[in-house]
Amino acid sequence: MKKRIANVLAAPQIGEQLQVAGWVRTRRDASGFSFIEVGDGSSLANIQVIADQTLANYGDEVKKLSVGCSVLVTGILQESPAKGQAVELRATEVQVLGWADPESYPLQKKQHSFEFLRNITHLRPRTNALGAVARVRSRLSYGVHTFFQDRGFIQVHTPIITTSDCEGAGEMFQVTTPSHASEVKVGEESGGEFFGRPAGLTVSGQLQAEVYAQALGNVYTFGPTFRAENSNTSRHLAEFWMVEPEMAFCDLEGNRHVAEEMLKYLVRLVLAECAEDLALFDRFIAKGLLARLQQVVDQEFAHITYTQAVEELLQSKQSFTYPVQWGIDLQSEHERYLTETIYQRPLIVTDYPAAIKPFYMRVSEDGRTVAAMDILVPGIGEIIGGSQREERYDVLLARMQQAGIEPSGYEWYLDLRRYGTVPHSGFGLGFERLVQFVTGMANIREVIPFPRTPGFAPC
Ligand code: ATP
Ligand code: MN
Repeated sequence: MKKRIANVLAAPQIGEQLQVAGWVRTRRDASGFSFIEVGDGSSLANIQVIADQTLANYGDEVKKLSVGCSVLVTGILQESPAKGQAVELRATEVQVLGWADPESYPLQKKQHSFEFLRNITHLRPRTNALGAVARVRSRLSYGVHTFFQDRGFIQVHTPIITTSDCEGAGEMFQVTTPSHASEVKVGEESGGEFFGRPAGLTVSGQLQAEVYAQALGNVYTFGPTFRAENSNTSRHLAEFWMVEPEMAFCDLEGNRHVAEEMLKYLVRLVLAECAEDLALFDRFIAKGLLARLQQVVDQEFAHITYTQAVEELLQSKQSFTYPVQWGIDLQSEHERYLTETIYQRPLIVTDYPAAIKPFYMRVSEDGRTVAAMDILVPGIGEIIGGSQREERYDVLLARMQQAGIEPSGYEWYLDLRRYGTVPHSGFGLGFERLVQFVTGMANIREVIPFPRTPGFAPC
C-alpha cells in the first residue's frame, strides 16, 4: 500500500487508500485545512496532500511542517477540484518522520544558484533540477548497457588501478601506500612499490578493452576514469565516467557509424522516457533544448576531415584566441565554432595529424595523418574521441619509439600484434558530457552526483 508518487500519478485509482513517504516541498494553509506538496524523488511531480483540522496532530505538527521535513502520509486518493493537478491525497494520517528547522535548512523555496548548491552537495539532489539530472543520468546509464548488450557487445570490467600510463603520464594520479610514497613517478621502475612497479588510477580503459576485443570481438567498458588535469573548465572533472566500446574487424568508418547510432539511440531514449524532466530543462535551463535534441535524432551527423576543418576555420575569417593552421590541436573555441556556427549539428572530424595524436592510432597511407575521429556537439565541443588502432607490429613499435615510450612496459600490448593481429577500432564517450548535452546543464559539476575538481571534493 506504500507507493512511489510517480506510480500513483501515472495510474491514479480514485478512491484507493494508500501511503506515500517523502519530503515536504511547500505547505499552504486555508481555513480548516492545509495543502502540503510532497515529493519523493521518483518523479519531478509532487503529490498534493489535503490535511484538515480533524487530524489529531493538525495544530501541533501539521501546521508546523516546513520545506524539507519528511512525512509518511496515509490517505485516500480523490479527484482534485482545483487546477494544477488531477488528483490529490486526502490524508487520514500525517506522520512526521523528521523535522527540518526552517531557520537553518539551506534549501528554501526560492531558486538557488548552482554555485550555491555545489557547496551543499549532500542536499542538492532534493532540488527539482538536480533530482531531474539524477533520473536522466540513471536512464542514460541503463541505455548505454541496453544499446551495447542488444547488439551483442560483451561488457568488460577493466582495471581502475593500472600500471600502463599510456598517454596520461602527466595527468595520472599515483596509487601507492604511505610507506611507499616517494618521489617515484609512474612509468619508472621501482622494486619497492606495492605492485612491484609504479601504479596509478586509470585515465582510460581502452588498452585493456583492446585485449578483450581481440579475443571476443565486440566489447565495451563503462567505468570511472581519473585525470589530474589542472583545468578548471565547465567540461573537465578529475573523476568522470567513460563509455568505451572496442570492436575487432572494424575500421574507422564502422567506428564512426556505431558512435553516431549510439548517440542517437541515447537521445531518443531520454526523449521518450524522461519527457517530464527534459521539459523542465527546456523551460528553465536551456531554451530550445527539446527541439535541438529532436534534430540530433532526425538529422545525419556532418562529417569532415581535420584538413577540411582547418580550411573552413581559415575561410571563416573569425578571429580566434589560438590561431589556426594545419598541425595544431583544435581548441575548444575552434571545435565549438565548427559544430555550433558552421554546421549547427553534431560533427564528426576524422584524420588528424599523426604528430598530435597518441601512438596507438593507425597511421594512414599519407604517412602524416592517423585514423582518428572526434565527435563535436553544439554547446559542449568534444563529446567522443576515438580511432582505428594500429594493428601492424612494426609501425606500432616505431610510433612508440618516436613518442619516447619504453616498449618493455607494453610487451603485452605488442603481443596482440604479434599473435593474430586484426584491424580494430573504438572510442571513448565522456558520460558526463553526454548528460550535459541532453540536459543542457552549463557546468559539468552539476551532472555528476559528487564532483571532483582541483581543490574540491567535499563528500
Ligand atoms: P578534451 O580535449 O576535452 O580534454 P580529451 O581529448 O582529453 O578531451 P579523450 O582522452 O579522447 O579526451 O577522452 C575521451 C572523452 O572523455 C572525451 O571526448 C570527453 O568526452 C571525455 N573527457 C575527457 N577528459 C575529461 C574530463 N577531464 N572530464 C570529463 N570528461 C572528459
Ligand atoms: Mn583532455
